[in-house]
Amino acid sequence: MPGVWSTNYWIILLIIFLRYAVLSLVAYLMYYVIFRNRWAFRKIQIRFPQGSDYRREFLYSVFTAFIFAGVGYSLFGTGLRNYTQLYLNVADYGWVYFGLSIPLMLIIHDTYFYWTHRAMHHPSVFRWFHKVHHLSTNPSPWASFAFHPLEAIVEAGIIVVIALIMPVHPLAIGLFLLIMMVYNVYGHLGYEVYPKGFSRSWLGRWINTSVNHNQHHQFFKGNYGLYFLWWDRWMGTLRSDYDRQFDDVKSRVAA
Ligand SMILES: [Zn+2]
Ligand SMILES: [Zn+2]
Repeated sequence: MPGVWSTNYWIILLIIFLRYAVLSLVAYLMYYVIFRNRWAFRKIQIRFPQGSDYRREFLYSVFTAFIFAGVGYSLFGTGLRNYTQLYLNVADYGWVYFGLSIPLMLIIHDTYFYWTHRAMHHPSVFRWFHKVHHLSTNPSPWASFAFHPLEAIVEAGIIVVIALIMPVHPLAIGLFLLIMMVYNVYGHLGYEVYPKGFSRSWLGRWINTSVNHNQHHQFFKGNYGLYFLWWDRWMGTLRSDYDRQFDDVKSRVAA
């Protein structure tokens, strides 16, 4: 069924943009509009961003969607596809591999993200690649794709890496990118949804949280991971005040 998986730039763009816009909008309406006052005491940083922050985050994210679609189309919609390991028939590798390929992509992406992110914090390149993302010192869900175009190209590189090194089905890529988007919006939500004590639990020690990434935006230093915390723990870049702030945010009570 080649027709089902045929690749069109505008359709890719629409999927990427709507995935970002719908998830960010739902989070924004819930936490920044409808329950803004009721839940304000739970906000990680008590103050709210300005209207100009939301607009800047949204506009850069639109640019990012164009760039992601361009990379996706170049990779899968042109002759470059022959160099990838994209496969269209699930039976070629079976459902077990299909299922495992999604967590595998998350682990590879987390590693790719941690190291490119740390590299982009190097003073020699920071302002060219990563400064735009850090204009949001108090991020909102709209910041999830707010990258300078140069950083957007780096971020899109994960799909190139994945498609070159492992067999991937288009549906698995779609599910992986959906999880990526959900986690990305959660990381910039400004609120913590994991339960009290999670950061100190046996599982939570290894899972990234919104408090963790919020600290990265507030302080710039430390907490470079995306889905997991093992690289930050192994490399000694986890902020020492992380557990304390997590406990603080989850201990607050309504006034
Ligand atoms: Zn950063
Ligand atoms: Zn961020």
